[in-house]
Amino acid sequence: MDCIFCKIASGAIPATLLFEDEEVVAFADRNPQAPVHVLVIPRRHIASLAQAAKTDDALLGHMFGTVAELARTLQLANGYRSVINTGPDGGQTVEHLHVHLLGGRGMTWPPG
Ligand code: 5GP
Ligand code: ZN
Repeated sequence: MDCIFCKIASGAIPATLLFEDEEVVAFADRNPQAPVHVLVIPRRHIASLAQAAKTDDALLGHMFGTVAELARTLQLANGYRSVINTGPDGGQTVEHLHVHLLGGRGMTWPPG
């Protein structure tokens, strides 16, 4: 499958890894939108949150637990934003599920 995030997860293309285990991989976004911008992905290809099944609930929980642990490691004690863009209206550009962890600056709301 021609999926850039599957290739990062398998090591076929390089990325700056911050964490990995059997289920998830975390790496620096190549076009950071904040001083800290990390993506947390499942190793297994899931195209988007809309394609996640009920049986993926534990994996989704683990992805967010990984975000929280990374935020502690990266010392984002003042807060951070974790985002999943889904589908065209959500602004998703890479069709492999990922959580953005953004921090190191104040965020605004509503998002664009
Ligand atoms: P989306 O718009 O789908 O929510 O987010 C996709 C993110 O993936 C973007 O922030 C983009 O900068 C990042 N991205 C796309 N291709 C690559 C890549 O090859 N390597 C890395 N590290 N990040 C990527
Ligand atoms: Zn993939």
